[in-house]
Amino acid sequence: MKIVVAKTAGFCMGVRRAVDMVLDAANTSDEPVFTFGPLIHNPQVLEMLREKGIHQIDEIPSKGHGVVLIRAHGVPPEDEKALEDAGFTVINATCPRVVRVQSIIHRYASKGYATIIIGDERHPEVVGLLGYAKGKGHTVSSMDSLISLPVFDNAVVVAQTTQDTDFYARVKHWCADHAPHYKIFDTICGSTEKRQAEIRQLAQENDAVVVVGGKQSGNTKRLAQIASQTGKPAIHIEDVSQMDYKMLRSARSVVITAGASTPNWIIAQACQQIESSLRKPHGFKKGLYLLRDFLMKTNIMAAAGAGSLTYACSVFQGISNHVHHALIAMLYVLSMHILNNLFTVKSDKYNHPRRADFYNKNKIYLWFLAAISGATGLYLSYTSGVLSFGILLIMSLLGLSYNLKIIPLVGKNGRTGRIQDISGSKTILITIAWGIVTTLLPAVENKCQLWPALVMFIFATGLVFSRTAFFDILAIQGDRITGKETLPILWGEKKSFSIIKAVLVFEICLILLIFFTDLLAKGVFLLAFIPFVMLLLIRFFEKDSHISGTRREFIIEFLFFASGCLAAVI
Ligand code: SF4
Repeated sequence: MKIVVAKTAGFCMGVRRAVDMVLDAANTSDEPVFTFGPLIHNPQVLEMLREKGIHQIDEIPSKGHGVVLIRAHGVPPEDEKALEDAGFTVINATCPRVVRVQSIIHRYASKGYATIIIGDERHPEVVGLLGYAKGKGHTVSSMDSLISLPVFDNAVVVAQTTQDTDFYARVKHWCADHAPHYKIFDTICGSTEKRQAEIRQLAQENDAVVVVGGKQSGNTKRLAQIASQTGKPAIHIEDVSQMDYKMLRSARSVVITAGASTPNWIIAQACQQIESSLRKPHGFKKGLYLLRDFLMKTNIMAAAGAGSLTYACSVFQGISNHVHHALIAMLYVLSMHILNNLFTVKSDKYNHPRRADFYNKNKIYLWFLAAISGATGLYLSYTSGVLSFGILLIMSLLGLSYNLKIIPLVGKNGRTGRIQDISGSKTILITIAWGIVTTLLPAVENKCQLWPALVMFIFATGLVFSRTAFFDILAIQGDRITGKETLPILWGEKKSFSIIKAVLVFEICLILLIFFTDLLAKGVFLLAFIPFVMLLLIRFFEKDSHISGTRREFIIEFLFFASGCLAAVI
């Protein structure tokens, strides 16, 4: 069974922007935050907003208090004014592409033109657009309703941004024949056009289509309609619990797509479950998948990567007891990562639903594993020396306090907070902690020279930074929901990718330059292979965002593991 995930599936720019704006408001405002109407037509996102205390108002009260966000569909101008007059602080998250249509209507309506809007008259975007037509707006949802309109002296024709492109083409054709003086604007959003064109093509090339998204979402329903018009079975589900696998029984290839209001975590969840139900691996392959998932969920893979990196950095510095240091790093990372996952099950629900489920079911064993690995790491460091033990103890205490409200921080709202409440702390602290444990601890304990130790520290922190920032990009939606401000949230996805790539290029250059000095063992040039491959993979992942998160994380973790293997061959 072949499974194809549409490249255009998921949040469009306007929806993502509105969701980000309301979450940012909720994370930073002391006042209550509301949305005017449902933010998007997706029940899981609405549920998530309710959990965050963001409620919905459907009527404008005469008096109000707090922040109100106008959703991507926009509203009539009088509604925005009424909200302000009632005393609300208004955040206008109308999509810039909808704002463009509003401006066109406003401009021509001011000159006396009639407005013909091709769309569903009950759709909030159309209701908002009509508000700009100065009472001369008409909605058209079929060819019959277009033909039944009088021919106006002057009129503009615009389409709801999520309108069917084929239907709008027919409207334009009719206008060219019967009302050539009408001014027609191409207002269907590029993202809608691409999404519809892609599903039309994919539905023809494959045997069945699964559309994931709210049943009330117009653009999602339209994707299901377009797919079924090709004659292939098309299933529209809000979540995987609604899947009817019988309909896919004879299909050899299935396309999964999603509407503009479907968040990544729902798409990822649907893909994983549909894939595991349809493509049941057997025998050896099944064993490999189970092993991979277990190593990732328990963080053993991350710990093995930290151990390997320590081993490699120690070998190239000429440190003799490298296995001992690798074990300490491995146990420390294992303990801290498990603890972190135990404390963040709530955000994992959005980013890694299966891992969150695993942590909920195996809490006791995982607490035990975290405690025993942390204690063993500390014991091993004690056998290395007092200094090593002291550093690791401080780092362990800091790691423990990261998610607990025991640090008297003054947060933005004057409340006591946690270290994780500091913007960007997650990405930076993981990087520093790994850097210390993989390079500085062994170097300090073995009284290594400053410069080789420093080079290895810069190399290790650069790699760990790239890994952590990339994982943070994958988790950006869930982190935003739970109010975590990772560096990719502060910088934005695009800038974060550019920074990660720049760091990796720097890493490659650093290792190649060091090769021409006597600071480290000559085989060190092999290490340049790790950031080079990581750079290629991250460029590839950046373009193809629908490879499962677990698979991408596993590949990156494996590279860390590979660093130890490279060191072992010299
Ligand atoms: S579909 Fe297009 S116009 Fe509508 S919200 Fe998304 S990006 Fe904006």
